[in-house]
Amino acid sequence: APPRLYGPHRENAAGTDLSQKDVRDMLAEAQTRFDKAMPHACGPVISGKVKTGTERGQASPADSSVIVSKITEADEAMVDAAFTAAHKAFDGWDRQGGAARAAILRKLADALEGETGRFMAILTREAGKTLNDGVAEVREAVDFLRYYAAEAETKFSHADRLPGPAGETNHMELAGKGVFACISPWNFPLAIFTGQIAAALAAGNTVVAKPAEQTPLVAFEAVKLFQKAGLPKDVLQLVPGDGKVGALMTGHPLLAGVAFTGSTEVARIINRTLASREGAILPLIAETGGLNAMFVDTSALKEQVVDDAILSAFGSAGQRCSALRILFLPRETSDGLIEALKGAMDALALGDPADPATDVGPVIDDEALAMLTAHAERMERDATILHRAPLSDELKAQGHYFAPLLVELPSLDVADREVFGPILHVIRYKRADLPKLAAQLAGKGYGLTLGVHSRLQRFLDSVREAVPAGNTYVNRNMTGAVVGVQPFGGEGLSGTGPKAGGPHYLYRFAAERVVTINI
Ligand code: NAP
Repeated sequence: APPRLYGPHRENAAGTDLSQKDVRDMLAEAQTRFDKAMPHACGPVISGKVKTGTERGQASPADSSVIVSKITEADEAMVDAAFTAAHKAFDGWDRQGGAARAAILRKLADALEGETGRFMAILTREAGKTLNDGVAEVREAVDFLRYYAAEAETKFSHADRLPGPAGETNHMELAGKGVFACISPWNFPLAIFTGQIAAALAAGNTVVAKPAEQTPLVAFEAVKLFQKAGLPKDVLQLVPGDGKVGALMTGHPLLAGVAFTGSTEVARIINRTLASREGAILPLIAETGGLNAMFVDTSALKEQVVDDAILSAFGSAGQRCSALRILFLPRETSDGLIEALKGAMDALALGDPADPATDVGPVIDDEALAMLTAHAERMERDATILHRAPLSDELKAQGHYFAPLLVELPSLDVADREVFGPILHVIRYKRADLPKLAAQLAGKGYGLTLGVHSRLQRFLDSVREAVPAGNTYVNRNMTGAVVGVQPFGGEGLSGTGPKAGGPHYLYRFAAERVVTINI
């Protein structure tokens, strides 16, 4: 049968058109207003009240001398208060039904869309996002709110009648589970933060949320905006802090489930914590890292491969879970492709993320820079450095900038884990060796994104069969999944599923109940 159109009816956000001068002026003005008020205070939001205490300054990744925010982090008593209030609010929120919750989520989407300029300004300074990345991120957050609203309406607002024998009725309905912990990473500090919360709330749960320690401000501003736009103050609690706060959340007795996005290592820690708890067995939705490859064959179009590989590997400074890490090139055409990749790298503009001309911004912090530098040193020993994109000493001294790097690997043995940043590894292959290489890659256990550049169906089929991946992109770049269009998420070491922004996601946040009545 031909594929049918799937998912609830809704539209993705139009986004922000950076080609328009008045739009760029509006963004520049929002940036200036934001910058003038730095550092911005932020902290835990417990039942709508902002808690204050000892503050920590958070510097901008693009300029270490700029303090973007002053944060009060949550302590154990605040985490406990957050869970207690969210637990009390659960019944009322769940009983409202999906349609009422959808109406509120749509208001939050409209409010966020209306504040695009301000949120892009925060993302630029706090997370080092370029303008293009900022547009995509706000848009994705808005899309998540509207998508899960539509899902709440279609799946959580009525019971479904099931077939059964005469004299008996069978109904199935979905309900929330209780208080969800939503734990998000710094690389999509608005979109993933909002997406997890929107899903948990849509399904009838209340939420205690923790942003990554590097990006508390955007989360704080989003929570304040959502509450102003009509979200009841007890159903969403914010507890910023580091991994210790995350551990308090996953160990809390009132916890009903966890939505986590981040590294595979931390997902394992949370999994172990949940497994060792007394009481109910709790669900974990974990979306984690990838060792993502793109396979190119001799039929591929050179310019298209180069464009897509550069964008997939170096866009967002390589700090996307979906980013390209290993590019497989056929020996026959590899020299020309590598020369073209070098040329394209030379054309990349590194710089201030607020500057519309910037292609690649900074990496998130000192630790990320040190990890990438150590990996580059290892590659100097164990592999061949093919090229570095130009990076000025001035930028290097100013913030956490890392020059995009192209490395040729002697074999896949050297690539054993995700390296989260702008480093692209190349492997040249002989056609006869491809099945072995693909099997070796699959054996590493990840399964997030996969790219294929080929005009041959047979080549595409053979790569897809050999390499498991949650999201495969053919003859295009391999990042930037769109909510409801490319539901996103991996398998194996890359995550538990179900896919975010897809029609199965909310089920994992829900209790399924069937009632059988003998009439
Ligand atoms: P991370 O270090 O694993 O942190 C993720 C979140 O977990 C942060 O909020 C972190 O808090 C918290 N955390 C740390 N230790 C914890 C603990 N013991 N218990 C509970 N929570 C804890 O990941 P990251 O560096 O922020 O993000 C980058 C990673 O995310 C990459 O591996 C990337 O591939 C992955 N990612 C995956 C997807 C996907 O959809 N598959 C999307 C985006 C990113 P602190 O930051 O405060 O320590």
